[in-house]
Amino acid sequence: IKVDPIRLEDEENMIIGSIINIEDVTEKIRLEKIRSEFVVNVTHELKTPLTSINGFVETLKNNDDIDKETRDRFLGIIETESNRLRRLIDDILMLSFIEGSKQKTDNITDLVQTFKEVYDVTYGLAQNKKIDYKYHFNKEKILIRANKDHIKQLFLNLVDNAIKYTQEKGIVFVEIIDKDDSITIHIKDNGIGIPQEDIPRIFERFYRVDKARNKKIGGTGLGLAIVKHIVLSLDGNISVNSKLNEGTEFIVQLPK
Ligand code: ADP
Repeated sequence: IKVDPIRLEDEENMIIGSIINIEDVTEKIRLEKIRSEFVVNVTHELKTPLTSINGFVETLKNNDDIDKETRDRFLGIIETESNRLRRLIDDILMLSFIEGSKQKTDNITDLVQTFKEVYDVTYGLAQNKKIDYKYHFNKEKILIRANKDHIKQLFLNLVDNAIKYTQEKGIVFVEIIDKDDSITIHIKDNGIGIPQEDIPRIFERFYRVDKARNKKIGGTGLGLAIVKHIVLSLDGNISVNSKLNEGTEFIVQLPK
């Protein structure tokens, strides 16, 4: 608690009263802590690929006699790490952009149309893994007051995860149901699932379940943090049901 006493004096400097301003700064301190932890995490996450890139560039520069195979392998690592850096920067910018845009929009977005656009760009990813990727809507148009880019990002991040964390020949199913008072989006897969103890943490920034399990699967750990922010900005809520090795379902509920 922050206390700011102010003395009130008359023209002859006689004290005639005082004002005490008492402010509860618990929330301010909490937000400040989250912000500074975020900066520390961002710095760490950006430094890791950069250090790797620098290291391999130095090695290549200082050794003229590296054989072609090794050289190509090092260049491959530099490329992967640069791509990771770019994804991290994109996600960090997206997160701060969504956080900053608290204002409600007047735009009306059709969830069906927007999802179909996302389906078209993610279809190839599913095909590569021979995943059975289907969708169902209970109406031809499902309108909502929301920024279309945000809705696109929401679908993209959830569907991308569903495809990423599902093995070959798996199933990814998306359903959008327009009910009288709300809209429900289900994104379901029969992939690797999430351990129960990790479920409460998956929406945290940079949180990735079991680094070893995820090592080969690219990701920044920001996808679900972005989704959560978008859902909250629409006064909705998001929940998850998941069983290890059986699959995961994300359920987004949005008010109409
Ligand atoms: P990432 O970039 O690692 O995918 P996210 O924030 O999108 O980051 O997700 C956080 C973690 O939640 C992931 O690392 C993954 O372990 C887990 N996760 C998210 N979606 C799924 C899913 N559909 N199936 C299994 N695990 C998932």
